[in-house]
Amino acid sequence: MIDDLPPLREVIATHDLAAKKSLGQNFLLDLNLTAKIARLAGDLSGADVLEIGPGPGGLTRGLLAEGARRVLAIEKDPRCMPALAEIAAAYPDRLQAINGDALTVNPLEHLTQPIKIAANLPYNVGTELLVRWLTPPDWPPFWHSLTLMFQREVAQRIVAAPGSKAYGRLALLAQWRSDPKIVMDLPPEAFSPPPKVNSAVVHLTALPTPRYPADPGTLNKVVAAAFNQRRKMLRSALKSVSPDIEDHLIAAGIKPTERAEQVGLEAFCALARSLQKA
Ligand code: SAM
Repeated sequence: MIDDLPPLREVIATHDLAAKKSLGQNFLLDLNLTAKIARLAGDLSGADVLEIGPGPGGLTRGLLAEGARRVLAIEKDPRCMPALAEIAAAYPDRLQAINGDALTVNPLEHLTQPIKIAANLPYNVGTELLVRWLTPPDWPPFWHSLTLMFQREVAQRIVAAPGSKAYGRLALLAQWRSDPKIVMDLPPEAFSPPPKVNSAVVHLTALPTPRYPADPGTLNKVVAAAFNQRRKMLRSALKSVSPDIEDHLIAAGIKPTERAEQVGLEAFCALARSLQKA
């Protein structure tokens, strides 16, 4: 046992937390597993942890048992709040649970640096939040690391290398300013109810500065245009970006006849710099 609180099945029964599909609720019920996921976030003792979508609190309890200084948990489903209040009572002054939508609540009003983020989120919200966390107005961001559960296919898109089918915008965005790694694979049976697909935990550490210099807006524009037509040669896929695109591609060391999925992050950054200079 990781704490003296009731087992999660009992919590779910007591508080009548039948999983709602509309909220993407697939709960983790094994507290040894949630403690293991919490450990993947690294040393938590000197950090505030932002948890999105705590649900009945399995991962929350893992984070607290593993020594998080404080946890701020944002949960959309009001039915989960009494269960979270019981956890807060068992860990005095260490858990603040807010009933709200993670896409609109500003967590920074409640957190102190250093901040780590950990979550087992509904998949659609997870990707949207990841993109937001990777594209703040300034870098480094407010968070030190992200430890996030994704559909395995999305996890593979985050860590993908050039030449693979999963390689695209998400890989370039994640790898430009962070170091993403798949750190755990989970079968559907790890969740209740089990989802249709496999899951994976991705750990991303924020780099102090982007891996290669580039203007974020220009890089985003180039990568978006390149992968919107990923089967086309870059000289035609990127025609709308600049009339002199062939010159810029050559200046960046990219063959104009190459396709987006063959081009690495360093070359995309060089292309963004060449365009920016012009
Ligand atoms: N963390 C819990 C666990 O591991 O068992 C629950 C995971 S469940 C996949 C996702 C949780 O996110 C649910 O509790 C759901 O109510 C919550 N959720 C869904 N959309 C949300 C949103 N926009 N903001 C905050 N929480 C959300």
